[in-house]
Amino acid sequence: MARKFFVGGNFKMNGSRASIKKIVEDLNDADLPSDVGMEVVIAPPALYIHCAKELLKNPEIKVSAQNAFPKPSGAYTGEIAAPQIKDAGADWVILGHSERRTINKESDDFVAEKTAHALENGLGVILCIGELLEERDTGMTLVVCNRQLDAVIDKVKDWSNIVIAYEPVWAIGTGLAATPEDAQSTHSEIRHYLAEKLGEDQASKIRILYGGSVNGKNAKSFNACPDIDGYLVGGASLKPEFIEIIKSRE
Ligand code: PGA
Repeated sequence: MARKFFVGGNFKMNGSRASIKKIVEDLNDADLPSDVGMEVVIAPPALYIHCAKELLKNPEIKVSAQNAFPKPSGAYTGEIAAPQIKDAGADWVILGHSERRTINKESDDFVAEKTAHALENGLGVILCIGELLEERDTGMTLVVCNRQLDAVIDKVKDWSNIVIAYEPVWAIGTGLAATPEDAQSTHSEIRHYLAEKLGEDQASKIRILYGGSVNGKNAKSFNACPDIDGYLVGGASLKPEFIEIIKSRE
């Protein structure tokens, strides 16, 4: 089953109007592969979603938020609602990123509630899962990933607008990407688990991205991995090498 290659750029809490304008202009000028069936999504801080959307000239590149609260509106100071994200011009939202799970103490259930709500409001969801170093070292990688998936499986039956990002926490921002063999093996296990829970048909269509220290140099090394359908890129999405990553499957 051919799945569309997907590259997400997670800017995290980085950038200014000027620097985001420059990134978008570079993407506009890049000669991106148009007929290879790929999706590119950039996730600037929420303040800059509208500005990024206005500046983007390539309709193939979509914009994502980095978080969304699971209520449509109301007295939730500092939060952002899915309908507002759509109104600002974004089509996607990143949920369950390890930085929010650890720093903001977001539980599996809360991530699942946000996922269901974002989908109901017409956003695609980049759902991040992944284990901490101590969990990997104690052989818990799949237990953790499956537990994070289970919370969402309980609330969401149609996964056609979800892209999973498998991001081992020990690989995020460390320069120590998982090896293609390790990442492929975990992706394949994740897909098997999804097949058990959601059926072969859905599982074969869900994109599973790898995230964690992907850069212009190592992106191509994952090309031969059949269950790696793209990347969620943090640090390198702020640099010109983001375009190399986007073109890595050409
Ligand atoms: P990184 O971050 O590419 O800087 O490791 C990835 C992510 O957090 O999504």
